Amino acid sequence: MAKYIFITGGVVSSLGKGVAAASCGALLQSRGYTVHARKFDPYLNIDPGTMSPFQHGEVYVTNDGFETDLDLGYYERFLGRKLSRNDSVSGGRIYWDVLNAERHGDYLGATVQMIPHVSNKIKEYLSAPTGTDFVVCEIGGTVGDIEGKIFLESIRQFANDVGRKNVMFVHLTLAPYLEKSGELKTKPTQMSVRELLENGIQADMLIVRTPRMLSAEERAKIGMFCNLPAKNVISGMDVDNIYKIPLAYDAQHVFDIIAEHFDLPSATGNMDKFQKIERYLSADLPEVKIGIVGKYFDVPDAYKSLNEALFHAGIHNNVHVKLKKINAEDFSAEQATGLDGILVPGGFGTRGVSGKIAAAGYARENKIPYMGICLGMQVAVIEFARNVLGISDADSTEFSKNCTPVINIMTDHDSENMGGTLRLGAYPCIIKSGTLAEKVYGKEQISERHRHRYEMDISWEEKFAQKGMVISGRSPDGRLPEIIELKDHPFFMAGQFHPEFQSSPFTGHPMFNAFIAAAAKK
Ligand code: GLN
Repeated sequence: MAKYIFITGGVVSSLGKGVAAASCGALLQSRGYTVHARKFDPYLNIDPGTMSPFQHGEVYVTNDGFETDLDLGYYERFLGRKLSRNDSVSGGRIYWDVLNAERHGDYLGATVQMIPHVSNKIKEYLSAPTGTDFVVCEIGGTVGDIEGKIFLESIRQFANDVGRKNVMFVHLTLAPYLEKSGELKTKPTQMSVRELLENGIQADMLIVRTPRMLSAEERAKIGMFCNLPAKNVISGMDVDNIYKIPLAYDAQHVFDIIAEHFDLPSATGNMDKFQKIERYLSADLPEVKIGIVGKYFDVPDAYKSLNEALFHAGIHNNVHVKLKKINAEDFSAEQATGLDGILVPGGFGTRGVSGKIAAAGYARENKIPYMGICLGMQVAVIEFARNVLGISDADSTEFSKNCTPVINIMTDHDSENMGGTLRLGAYPCIIKSGTLAEKVYGKEQISERHRHRYEMDISWEEKFAQKGMVISGRSPDGRLPEIIELKDHPFFMAGQFHPEFQSSPFTGHPMFNAFIAAAAKK
């Protein structure tokens, strides 16, 4: 059975439990252990797919087509492991299961209760086999939240079921700094740990978010009040880049604390891949300026995976990628001057579309490297149809009902995941030989994740190809265009999928790597 590390948070939300959990996992991996990650979100939505990106940032998509919290993205990027719908579980989903089972008569006349029925359902999800040595498991929200209580109760029971030695509780808190007195205050941490104790959970390690390292006295004081050795109180310092966090934990012997808890042999880890990123960050390297023509810029995390993928491609190419956020509604040639590359990301709805079409046209005509993602592919197709093929009313049926549709809903496409709504999750794509896509991916078949409803209508293929826009990737049945590219252009490539969901900080992603390489050349 896997050993479990539960990460809870207290004092305030948004302390970075996801990154903390992923970093603990990375330390274990660096010592040769296999690690899986899971997240429980106590809220009542069945899944985050219906939640506004304006509240929760990006909707992340797993291979199996589940729309999840963006923390799953951190886990996949840090741990290089593919997660699934059973690794992002909300309170709503637990209750849904329990109530459906009740209607189905599965409880055989019993009174259905929070304990044991809801708690057992939670334990069923959290203990689903992973085949790994460890599972890092984050409990979303903040200790004290009413909807989180049953989750704390369930992990308490779980530790009791499988043995306290097989479970470690890590609690993330905040020590605010008071400017006036020049002090870090530890009281909120003490109170948060006490609140956890009221739920029967003794924290085994504390990660205290602070603007500076905790002193030995502060650690001793926190340890004394919170019932744990001072050495198990870690400073979760603010850093300018999340990939420095595993290194910061390593320097504070977090692995040793974990090893002591689980009786693992002591070991030094190979942290090379994180050190490489740390060196890259401080290296003096050429800058590449990429314009992102989008519309969700006021939401901090709306383009999380995209920003990550561009950062990864910068590491891969030994350049620093500087992003210029261009609001699609005000796109103009002036805004685009000095850019080494233009990227149009995914998006929904009519607002900003004409600016995105203009951006694709600008990149095409001025031979500026262009990468399109999902909607970014669709606008490139529309632009080409209008301005190269001369079909002035070419459009997507998402934006206009009275148009010549080059982008449409392909209703006859049979896909078990469509469900009448979005095409979600990973699908295979066959790459055409002799194309840029083949050079970029170096393979005949790839798998990329989708989240869209509309597709380029493949019946246009001939007409587009004659003028230089080639469909270089398509679904195995040949009917859905997946990648388009332009001939006679330094780099113009777009995918109907979201490659950013599979980019790794340690290797980048083929399409992003090639895009940034082309931009760097420019
Ligand atoms: N709105 C477009 C569609 O539904 C593109 C979606 C996206 O970019 N993710 O097909």
